[in-house]
Formats: sequence, C-alpha cells, structure tokens
Amino acid sequence: MTENANVSPKTEMERLANLIRQWDHAYYVLNESIVSDFEYDQSVMRLKALEDQFPELKDLESPTARVSGYADLAFSEVRHSYPMQSLDNAFSREELEAWLKRIGADLDQKRLVFELKIDGLAMSLTYRSGVLVRAATRGDGTVGEDVTANVMAIDAVPKTLPDSEIEELEVRGEIYMPLSSFERHNEAAIAKLKNYEGSAADRPKVFANPRNAASGSLRVKDPSVTRQRGLAFFAYQIANDLQNLTDSHYESLQLLSRLGFSVNPNIRLIEEVDEIFSLFGRWEENRHSLDYDIDGAVIKVDSFADRAKMGSTSRAPRWAIAYKFPPEEKTTLLEDILVSIGKTGRATPFAKMTPVFVGGSEVAMATLHNQDQVRAKDLRVGDIVRLRKAGDVIPEVMGPVLAMRPEGLVEWQFPKVCPECGSELRRDEGDADHYCVNYRCPAQAVARIVHFASRPALDIEGLGETIVKRFFDLGIIADVADIYNLDYEILVSLDRFGEKSVTTLLQAIERSKTAPLNRFLVGLTIRHVGSVAADALASRFGTLETLRNATVEEVSEVEGVGPIIARSVVDFFAHETTSDLLDRMLQRGVAPSPIAQKAIQGGALAGLTVVVTGGVDGFSRDGITQAIKDVGGKAASSVSAKTHLLVVGENPGASKLKKAQELSIRMVDGVSFGKLLSGETPLDQLEEYAP
Ligand code: NAD
Repeated sequence: MTENANVSPKTEMERLANLIRQWDHAYYVLNESIVSDFEYDQSVMRLKALEDQFPELKDLESPTARVSGYADLAFSEVRHSYPMQSLDNAFSREELEAWLKRIGADLDQKRLVFELKIDGLAMSLTYRSGVLVRAATRGDGTVGEDVTANVMAIDAVPKTLPDSEIEELEVRGEIYMPLSSFERHNEAAIAKLKNYEGSAADRPKVFANPRNAASGSLRVKDPSVTRQRGLAFFAYQIANDLQNLTDSHYESLQLLSRLGFSVNPNIRLIEEVDEIFSLFGRWEENRHSLDYDIDGAVIKVDSFADRAKMGSTSRAPRWAIAYKFPPEEKTTLLEDILVSIGKTGRATPFAKMTPVFVGGSEVAMATLHNQDQVRAKDLRVGDIVRLRKAGDVIPEVMGPVLAMRPEGLVEWQFPKVCPECGSELRRDEGDADHYCVNYRCPAQAVARIVHFASRPALDIEGLGETIVKRFFDLGIIADVADIYNLDYEILVSLDRFGEKSVTTLLQAIERSKTAPLNRFLVGLTIRHVGSVAADALASRFGTLETLRNATVEEVSEVEGVGPIIARSVVDFFAHETTSDLLDRMLQRGVAPSPIAQKAIQGGALAGLTVVVTGGVDGFSRDGITQAIKDVGGKAASSVSAKTHLLVVGENPGASKLKKAQELSIRMVDGVSFGKLLSGETPLDQLEEYAP
C-alpha cells in the first residue's frame, strides 16, 4: 500500500475506502485477513483524519460511518431488535485519556468496567421464557445471519435458563475458539491433508488464527461440524432493557452469571483510572497465559443512566472503547546468521536467535531471504533485533535496535563457500540469490530426493524428509534414480521397517514409475521449471524422449515458456550427470505416462488455475479476475492442489501463503504479474515470490 502525497484528498479517501471495503469483505465474508489488524486500523484512522479535515468530501457510505460486516446470503437474514454496534478504538494511553476526558462531564457515577477484548465474533442470543430461540451474527449491525442451528451445537451456550420469568432476554457476547481447540483442530487437519484424496469441498481446513477458525466454524451448513470444533462463548451484555432487575453493567454481568452464562472471570470494576493502565499492562504481558486470544481491553461506563446521557454514533456507543494492544513485537539476541541450501542449491540466509515467545509461539529462527535484505536491514551477529509475526504467522526480523548495538560488531558477509559441501557459493549478475555450484552437494541431493517424492511431484508416500535423510546417510540412495533400486531385502533389514511399511513404500515407488510426464518433470528439479512450465512442456512434447531431443528454439516456442526456461531445460538434458541420471531411471523401469499433445490455444495463462492474494496495482478484485480470464486462465479464490500459480500482491493473506508453501505451488510477485497481464513480461520471467 503506497501513500501518495501528490494525489488529491478525494482520490486518497476513495482509495482508502476501497481498500477497507476489500479487507472487510475478506475478513467478514471469507474469514481471511489480507492485512494485519494493525495495518487495517491505521488505514481506518487515516481515512477518519481526512474525513475530519475535509468533511465536505466525506462519503455517506464511508466504512468509518457504519459497522463493518456482511450478512452472507447462505443464511437467512435476521433483523436485530437493537443494533449490534462496533466499538471505537484507542491505540495509546493518550487516546484512552482523551476518551476519559470526553466522557468525564457525563459521568455521574465514577465507575467504569474493565473487560478483556476477546478475539472472536459477536453473537446475539434471544431467549423467550427461558428458551434459546434465535442466535444471530452481527452482520452489518442491522441485519445479521441466523445461525441458530449451529449455535445449538455449542455446549458452552445455555439452551434454557433457570429463571423463565424473564419473558424476553437478548444476550450479547463473543463466540471464540479456545487455543486448545484451535491447535487440536489444525493438527488433525494437517495430518489428514497428508494423504488426502477426497473432494475439494470436504478437504480438511487449516485455519490461520482462532478468530477465523471461530467464524468459519460457526458459518457452516452442517451443525455437527460446528459441534466438533469445540467453540466457546463469553457473555458480556444484556441488550434489552431490564431496568427492573439491574441498573448497572457490572450487576447485569452478575445476573448473566447466575443465569448460567459463562462470563469472563477477569472483568473488574474500576474506581481509579490508574487501575486501567496497570491491568492493561499486566494483560499485555500475560495475554498468552490464557486459553483464548485477546486483542486488547474494552473499557465501559458502568451506570446505565450515565450511558443513556452519552448515547451512540451510527457506528459505536460513546460509553465504551476498545483499548487495543500494539502489534506484538519482541526483542531478542541475533546469535548467528546461517545459510541453508535448497534443492536448486539456492543459499538462503536465516537468523538464529535466542528463542523468544512472540505471537503465540516460540520463535528461534526466521528467514532473511537474501544478501540484499540482510544489508538493507543492516543486521549484524550480536545485535539485539526486533521480531514480529508477519500476518500473525511468519516470523519476521524487523531490524536491529541500534541503541543497544555493542561496539565492534562487524557487517555480515555472505559466506563464500557452501556450509554443507565447501563448494563455491556464487551470485550471478542480476540474480538476488547465491547458489551452491556443486550438483552433488549432500544438502541439495537430499532436498532434491525429498522434492521428487513429494505430493506435487511423484507423490511417493512414505518417502518423507526423515526417511530420505536416513537412506542417504546409510548410502542406500544417493540420487533419485537410486529410489528405483530399493528392494524388499534391503528395506526389511533396516531397523523400524516392518513388512507392511516396506510393502506400502515399494508399491508407491512402483506406481510412481508411470506418473504423468508433467509431474515427473516437476520432480526433476530443473531450474525455473515449476508446475506451470512442466504442464506446458508435457502438453507440447508429449513424451520424455521428444522433450529430451528438443532444441532451445523448439522449447522456447512453447506458450508460456520463454528463452530462460528453454535454456535451462535443454542444459539439464544435455548435462552428463543429469542425462546419466535419467538413463539409469529408464533402465530401472521408469516410464512417465505421455500427455496427449494439445495445441495450446491463445493466452499467456491458457489452461492454468491462478489464485491472487493481496492487491495488484492497477486492478480491482473483480478486474484482475476478468484479466486472468482474458488471457485464458482460471481465477480461483482458494489455494488447492489444483492451483498452478499463487500471485502474491501487496498485503497478502497469510493462510494462502502458508497453504501454497505446504503444497509447493509456484508463487510469483504481484507487480510482475501485473506486467504479464499487460503483455509486458512473459510467464517464465515473472519474479518468483520468496516468502
Ligand atoms: P472491534 O473488533 O474492534 O470491536 C467490536 C467487537 O469487539 C464487538 O463486535 C465484539 O465482537 C468484540 N468484543 C470482544 N470482547 C468484547 C467485550 N468484552 N465487550 C464488548 N465487545 C467485545 O470492531 P469490529 O467492528 O468488530 O472489527 C473491526 C476490527 O476488526 C478492526 O479494528 C480490526 O482489528 C479487525 N479487522 C481486521 C481486518 C483485517 O483485514 N485484518 C478487516 C476488518 C476488521
């Protein structure tokens, strides 16, 4: 997201409003975060500031003027009897003090209530004569979704109340997924995905965070799915007027508790404002000791009479405020900068740090991408560095704390030799990466075998990283051709290898011999050849033999394969080592299934399924979908094994990135993808996105 000082306030306001609408749609409808909450909140604040400065330009439909959210048409609509509002935010002590000052004049009873801000989704529960009759999401604040059937499947929500004298009761609260349920769910989903062969619709779902998980689990068609997900509920408000029973918020929470609702045990009545800051500080420090995520505190006026004087705006009450935690950032010692070697020999620097707990898990390592990134951040071994979770998932080293830099730290130099085999690490002109030049480097060899056996390639179940490493160290396999030399006698003689696992492995190896040519090509680790180029090559040349004999000119004529890929393919087949490797595989019975040759018709993305995450400059969400179709591609909304390409634009969604990484899907940079759509850059020259 770029801020441009030269654009008019109106254009900037429209740009921000459009971005916020896009993020809202992703967040509330698709349960995905395209940007971090912090970045979202910053953009809302910028838009608000512009609207205050130029009130005549303010759009009546501005996202700052209403409750963000949608009611999905998949559920019946529910019109709320009392609007379900959002909350205004304070991001610092000063902002909270300003709010306290604003409400001060109306505050007769000097009582406030401190609550934790639970990171889930708001829920309205209606009880008639003590029986739960309706559960609804917030939606746009006026109209929500009827999720009664699913909420009935949540044990933590009372279905009947002991006191049926209260004719009508509307309880508001937060549905959330406890961290224990979240971890259990994701672990099980990841395990199931390993051998998953079912339909896309039933594919186990891995969630990016507990909030998305709660929202996704509540808005499903089948209540038994909601039941399995272990959701929970905290009640925090009675929406209808029960003046005869209570005239303060704190009392109403006690009433809710007596009626059998779960009320958060950390709610405190505040008499001195300083207590707010000490409680807030304590929870910021200890937030991870809880079994649920919180993103700050909510401070509320206690007396209903005081609240009535203050009233509400169209979006939020004036008598409450969300006091949000800043994005979690930790500092730790950068113990070393090491380099890891991938299957193509790419040498990626990474930070080794004193382990520190950040964003819900312990982090000791983070990628530093390449030499230029380390230089740009000026990271030096021995620095204290700032660390955070990008998109709440991927650890990112933000930079050194220069004020704490000990004297004498030297600039980091990229190692000259490969840490695994001692060969030269070379960076070619125009390339951002260094490569280990030794094809026989053990780290590369193991990574290549693991990749060959992985799901997007030959899919040899049972030949994961640990086993490959073991076989390699024992000298049983040195390269992928040796996989086809493994036999029953050798395997069964090994420790921890029973007859059954040996037979299963040998069957998977046998099956892989006739895998389709495109997958075989993916498995070979030919530089620049991912699934997209492999599909195009296999479709054009049909058999391995024909492709092996093709010239650079012939290969570069293939749609979507330019001169760079063509040179790399022809070099691969011409090289003695790789050519010998293929011969040995063929001798051992490997015979990739030919692909029916088809004329690739028009369009740079013909036949390819593309998923876009984040913004691509110059395109709206719908615009990019159309542009992909225009060049023959198919735009899909979620990453699956069928995806050929993930386009990573600005502020990408962490869950899509993670999924694409898990499935080894080619990822390309959004800026150069924009150039592909405009015909400026061919498919093979798109910048790879390195997470
Ligand atoms: P909000 O989450 O800031 O505050 C309102 C909500 O807080 C209520 O609806 C309720 O669900 C919840 N809440 C939790 N504990 C509560 C308590 N004790 N008392 C009262 N309410 C409590 O506002 P919002 O309108 O729901 O959402 C806006 C926020 O959502 C943004 O500030 C941002 O953090 C996040 N968001 C992020 C993205 C993104 O792309 N990352 C997009 C949209 C919204």
